[in-house]
Amino acid sequence: MKKLEEKAQACKKCLLCATQTNLVFGEGDPNAEILFIGEAPGEKEDKQGRPFVGAAGKLLDALIESVALERKDVYIANVLKCRPPGNRDPLPDEVKACWPYLEGQVQTLKPKLIVLLGRHSLERFIPGQKISEMHGKPLRKEFPGLGKQVFFPVYHPAAALYQGSLRKTLFDDFKRVPKIIELIRKEEKERKKESAKLKKEQKKLF
Ligand code: URA
Repeated sequence: MKKLEEKAQACKKCLLCATQTNLVFGEGDPNAEILFIGEAPGEKEDKQGRPFVGAAGKLLDALIESVALERKDVYIANVLKCRPPGNRDPLPDEVKACWPYLEGQVQTLKPKLIVLLGRHSLERFIPGQKISEMHGKPLRKEFPGLGKQVFFPVYHPAAALYQGSLRKTLFDDFKRVPKIIELIRKEEKERKKESAKLKKEQKKLF
């Protein structure tokens, strides 16, 4: 992860490196089971070089704590590592240029669950879908180098700051996180058991 961050720090693949104050690579537990992926750094994040430290970040912290976790237990990253001026939407070329860093983060972390925060994050991993239809529903999709990866799209915390009614929806969707993690853990345990059984059978035969 350190090497990946060094690469990102030196990146000049799009014009955002010219306008940012600090690159916001991402942060958290390198062994985290859950990876949260937002859109792009905002003003506060750009100043501090850390993800989700503004108003949306406070809400994200509350959401994480609502499922008995702490920020230090998870990993938080963004689709873009540099702030788009005036917090405009990421441009397709910027998303493409920044993708190797996010892809590398996912492949290094190998999280059990990726929580997609908002429509830009959803679009990057599951294109052509609406967040209003996809939120709160976990799904599995092939990810290069990882096999079937579980994703959980939710509204972006900033959306709930603008539209108060989404706050309850976000907290309700988050309530599903512990159960989803539990199911993934159980499945992994079963898979390991099956492969140990298979190896034992093979040894018996040959
Ligand atoms: N919004 C995001 O999508 N990411 C941040 O890091 C902060 C706000």
